[in-house]
Amino acid sequence: MLAAVRPKNAFEVALENFDIAAGYLDLDHDVREMIKYPERVLTVTVPVRMENGHVRRFEGFRVQHSTVRGPAKGGIRYHPNVTLEEVKALAAWMTWKCAVVNIPFGGGKGGVTCNPKEMSRNELEHMTRRYASAILPLIGPEQDIPAPDVYTNSQTMAWIMDTYSMTKGYPIPGVVTGKPVCLGGSLGRNEATGRGVFYTIQSACDHLHMQLKGATVVVQGFGNAGSVAAHLLDTAQCLVIAVSDSTGCIHNKEGLDIPKLMMHKEKTGRVAGFPGSEAISASELLALSCDILVPAALENTVVEENAPYVKAKIIAEAANGPLTPEADAILEAKGVFIIPDILCNAGGVTVSYFEWVQDLQHLFWETQEIYNRLERVMRTSFHDVVKIRADRSVSMRAAANMLGVGRVAEAVKLRGLYP
Ligand code: GLU
Repeated sequence: MLAAVRPKNAFEVALENFDIAAGYLDLDHDVREMIKYPERVLTVTVPVRMENGHVRRFEGFRVQHSTVRGPAKGGIRYHPNVTLEEVKALAAWMTWKCAVVNIPFGGGKGGVTCNPKEMSRNELEHMTRRYASAILPLIGPEQDIPAPDVYTNSQTMAWIMDTYSMTKGYPIPGVVTGKPVCLGGSLGRNEATGRGVFYTIQSACDHLHMQLKGATVVVQGFGNAGSVAAHLLDTAQCLVIAVSDSTGCIHNKEGLDIPKLMMHKEKTGRVAGFPGSEAISASELLALSCDILVPAALENTVVEENAPYVKAKIIAEAANGPLTPEADAILEAKGVFIIPDILCNAGGVTVSYFEWVQDLQHLFWETQEIYNRLERVMRTSFHDVVKIRADRSVSMRAAANMLGVGRVAEAVKLRGLYP
């Protein structure tokens, strides 16, 4: 009997994508050895006294994949499926992402294996503060700057900022981004990932001579990134015909009323049961006829089994790593135009960069200035990637990885090998 093939974990996929890009770039062995693997990996124990009076131990991680181009940068994720391998992959993707949009950061990521949906606010605060103290030796405005990711938000960042500042003895807002605006957060940061996704979709439509107005859209994952992208696409007169979240999928072929759906989700915590929509299954959602598919949930939601049924012309990867390599190959072969994650969702970290700059200068910008700068960064990066794709006849994903990996390789060559 043949042994079952173990699916690759996220970090193995990240290494594979690195090798493809490094191959195209003809990078020599020494440079590859210096930039491929995480620079620092920290695993921590996070004990928390729960509401029932007992102490529960959580496991947490912080990975600095690269500090070649600047301080490590990347979010912190709270999810039951968080593993060290996943955090390593997400940290590597941050390195290439920051390089693609050409902001002066390396890449990092953190995570705690927990189910925040089953925890009280008190438990979450204590877990966050204890995790922040545990990773304190690594973080700092010049070293490693966390931000929100899946199931963390501006409140989580406020707790980390406070914990860090209390141990240093003075306020240090630049240690995290994605903070509340009143604590040195940036206007426009909350919606930045979704807005960046929207700008890359606009750029893709221009590039493909496709009308955005009237285009049909399916959004998988109606969280921070997905709901904002849906809202902006709706404002641009697209027809958002289906959306999903972890509790269900809804469909209306005439188009969902997105502002009302956002209120419904705010009130009930779910998209399911939205008046005027019908419930469909997750596989039906992916197989709907549409122009644009926005996977905005977690990794590996589009896989070998469901990829053949996808009918979209454009896939905008608002999530990190939503397509498995097998799904990616199937969709490439079908001629789908894929906007890869490290380009598509880079709006979040780009406005994080603006927030960090504002914190360091103690000088804050207007919303319109943030939008204008973000749009310029996203459009420029899109064109940089499209140019490599055309010049080298590679996929959009390979082109984005080539741009990111190439910039880090150039920097490491100039810095040289210490000591
Ligand atoms: N978590 C977001 C990402 O995956 C944002 C990271 C940041 O702003 O540092 O890109």
